[in-house]
Amino acid sequence: MSVAKQLYRLQEIDLEIESGERALEQVTSQLGDSQAVIKTQKQLELEQKRLEELSRQQHSAEWEIDDVTTKLVAAEEQLFSGRVKIPKELTNLQHEVEAFKARRNQLEEQALEIIDRVEQSEASVAKINSELKKLTADWERQQKQLTDEVEKLKTTLADLRDRRQRLAGEIDPSALEFYQSLRKGKGIAVARVEQGICRGCRISLPTTDLQQARSGNLVQCSSCGRILFLP
Ligand SMILES: [Zn+2]
Repeated sequence: MSVAKQLYRLQEIDLEIESGERALEQVTSQLGDSQAVIKTQKQLELEQKRLEELSRQQHSAEWEIDDVTTKLVAAEEQLFSGRVKIPKELTNLQHEVEAFKARRNQLEEQALEIIDRVEQSEASVAKINSELKKLTADWERQQKQLTDEVEKLKTTLADLRDRRQRLAGEIDPSALEFYQSLRKGKGIAVARVEQGICRGCRISLPTTDLQQARSGNLVQCSSCGRILFLP
């Protein structure tokens, strides 16, 4: 194998390693918490707190209704017991009964409104909960795929680095060093020659260069300076 061919193969492996590293970086950057899951968890917490507060309001309203009812029953019992005979006291009792009834109606209306809001909040909690479950499942599935992908890429990269090391070991050290310095400056160090044209800069190469390259010598393109490789 000519040195140019060896270097061309090495470059193929190096480019594969580079693209593998980019892919690994890209996949790794997607690993981690899901903003959508975090946001929905916060929403759920807020709605659960709201529901707790509403339930507390509902119980307190129901307790107040019970309290007023007890007082109302006692007042009515006294009113109709026949024990109170003074007309002014009876009138007062009647007013008291009316006032308790009015208060109870008001509280019952309030309680109905609260119950309505409790039901809405319960529905919200259920909806957000199922959304969160779906988002979490999607996220877990995605993370699993990404983790598998990371493992696959790491294995591929380890294999490529292995092959690179073996191939680099077979290449003349000074040629290898020259290749490395070209790679650093130009990215592509070895250019294929197709139909007498350098694929690195698309210039037509002089016949002497082509002959030199064909005979296995390390020849640089006179225009772009890359190592020429005739397949
Ligand atoms: Zn060139």
